[in-house]
Amino acid sequence: MELTSGARVGVVGGGPAGSLSAYFLLDLARQTGIELTVELFEPRDFSLTGPPGCNMCGGVISESLMQKMAAEGIVLPKALMLDAIDSYVLHTDSGSAAIRPLHEEMRIVSIFRGAGPQGAESQRPLPWSSFDQHLLEMAKGLGARHVPRRVRRLEREPDGRLRIHLLPLKGENPDQDTLFGVYDLLIGCVGLNGSGVRLFEELDFGYRPPKSDRAWVAELYMGAEEVRRRLGNAMHIFLLDVPGMKFAALTPKGHYATFILLGEGVNEAVAREVCHSPAVRELFPEGWETPVRPCHCQPRINIGPPVQPFADRVVLVGDCASSRLYKDGIGAAYRMAKACALTAVTRGVSGADFRAGYWPACQEMDQDNRLGHLLFSMDGLLRHLPPFRRAMLTVIREEQSASADPRRLSSALWDTFTGSAAYRDIFRRAAHPVIVWRLFLALLRALWSGSR
Ligand SMILES: Cc1cc2nc3c(=O)[nH]c(=O)nc-3n(C[C@H](O)[C@H](O)[C@H](O)COP(=O)(O)OP(=O)(O)OC[C@H]3O[C@@H](n4cnc5c(N)ncnc54)[C@H](O)[C@@H]3O)c2cc1C
Repeated sequence: MELTSGARVGVVGGGPAGSLSAYFLLDLARQTGIELTVELFEPRDFSLTGPPGCNMCGGVISESLMQKMAAEGIVLPKALMLDAIDSYVLHTDSGSAAIRPLHEEMRIVSIFRGAGPQGAESQRPLPWSSFDQHLLEMAKGLGARHVPRRVRRLEREPDGRLRIHLLPLKGENPDQDTLFGVYDLLIGCVGLNGSGVRLFEELDFGYRPPKSDRAWVAELYMGAEEVRRRLGNAMHIFLLDVPGMKFAALTPKGHYATFILLGEGVNEAVAREVCHSPAVRELFPEGWETPVRPCHCQPRINIGPPVQPFADRVVLVGDCASSRLYKDGIGAAYRMAKACALTAVTRGVSGADFRAGYWPACQEMDQDNRLGHLLFSMDGLLRHLPPFRRAMLTVIREEQSASADPRRLSSALWDTFTGSAAYRDIFRRAAHPVIVWRLFLALLRALWSGSR
């Protein structure tokens, strides 16, 4: 079951996973002399501001992704990159510590997925552009055809190929969907926010979407000058003892500060409590009040592995399959889109081909996430036990003030928050005997000073 010239590929969903799958597929097919028709179904208009144009995320691009893209000759235009982030500040109930990477050239950047937050229309022409639109244009540049419609139903033909039926447009009979075409390969990149995964569950090949959690994201307008003055070029991470929260972050993004909250069942009440905590409040201008209705959303975040994300002529990529735990979801979509395209072009599109070529990449990521879960389970220690927090802050400050220090804990934390390294690598560094010993001594000191 191979892709040969004239084959037709349908990509359902045009977020990062969809656009990059189309891009890599067309790129590899061209290199191997195969002429493919690739149709990419994406109803969202990324040139719109607010929720209609946005795929809901923190919008931080990891440095590992920037490097991978640069190596492939994919350069992000300046208009996409709002702020270059060169450090982290970790805020806890016991104080804060800044983390700078060991190598000064390490940078991550913040972007808007759509045309910006709701209310940004007043700033048109907008001084930034949409990241998702850029990826979509890259795929179109290699020949992908964008179909700006929502897929409603998938069906298997007797010969094993797959049919795509579209949701009727306004004015059309709502009970009658339109058969758009029959495909030699379907790539599902529908994310986790919406009913897209159901299309693939209903194909009955055993696919089950990954476990997911809700997050809370809000774009808080402060004005560019105030953002620069208050947040600098740093991402601010909060490990606070607020029930329901795992961690929160504030990222500078042009005129806005993007607020992200992760945790089990986070909601507006938890978000307000975190925003009103002293550690967060001191970063806002004096007298600043959280807008009553900021542009906000509650997207789903992938926290577990999928079941059977492939079969003959169908494969799932991105958040609806394997992603990285709590970080670098766009980088994960990039890697998996490439693994999927490579399998389809060089091996074939049967279930056995995807099992041999694509599944190992998913499994590697899913295994790494298990270590990620272990690392993140330690946040409970830090949030609920003040001596642990103080010990960690002490070691970070010691590392940051000594220029010759290899900064093992700082670099492990930098990579945990930026997504620039695999969890197994971070785990190995964080468990280094020198770090364990320094933390132990700092903990003894924290316990001693606490008891006095
Ligand atoms: C709170 C939060 C913060 C995050 N922060 C970051 C971050 O800072 N950096 C980072 O790298 N990652 C981050 N992520 C993860 C990142 O958002 C995802 O990993 C990434 O968006 C996955 O891309 P995707 O293409 O798989 O899915 P999505 O981006 O969700 O795209 C899915 C697309 O499929 C389309 N679609 C769905 N159903 C259909 C249908 N029936 N027909 C046609 N199209 C359909 C949708 O319109 C959408 O455009 C964050 C996630 C969350 C929840």
